[in-house]
Amino acid sequence: TIGIVALDQDGHVAAGTSTNGLTHKVPGRVGDSPIVGAGAYADSSAGAAAATGDGDLMMRFLPSYLAVELMRTGTDPSEACKTAISRIKRHYPDFFGAVICANTTGHYGAACNKAPTLNQFHFMVSNLESNTPVLKSVDCF
Ligand code: ASP
Repeated sequence: TIGIVALDQDGHVAAGTSTNGLTHKVPGRVGDSPIVGAGAYADSSAGAAAATGDGDLMMRFLPSYLAVELMRTGTDPSEACKTAISRIKRHYPDFFGAVICANTTGHYGAACNKAPTLNQFHFMVSNLESNTPVLKSVDCF
């Protein structure tokens, strides 16, 4: 999945996803990516989030919606992403997934679940602080 969260100069946020789905998916599978609240969610009064990973499992927890609602209450984006991951991890300790988050003040973060094939999650950040996109990473937990 390619997940994007964006903030414009007027404080409006947007989120989007594009995915090839999962390997060996059944014909007609929709997955989490196009489902509002699961694959992505944005609300200009709070922030935006996008998710990647095992969509069949993650979509049951609406991680993007949860992260945005947490940012609405003032939770820092990194913490909001972590809580969205934790909510799934409680039931599926080894699931494969990550969430990216940004709030309306331009703060951002990401979190991923430590899984056999995922130790770190990489994401790109483009903002006014540098004149080029910067590669960031977070350690999964
Ligand atoms: N979440 C996507 C899906 O389950 C897959 C991915 O993130 O790569 O369709």
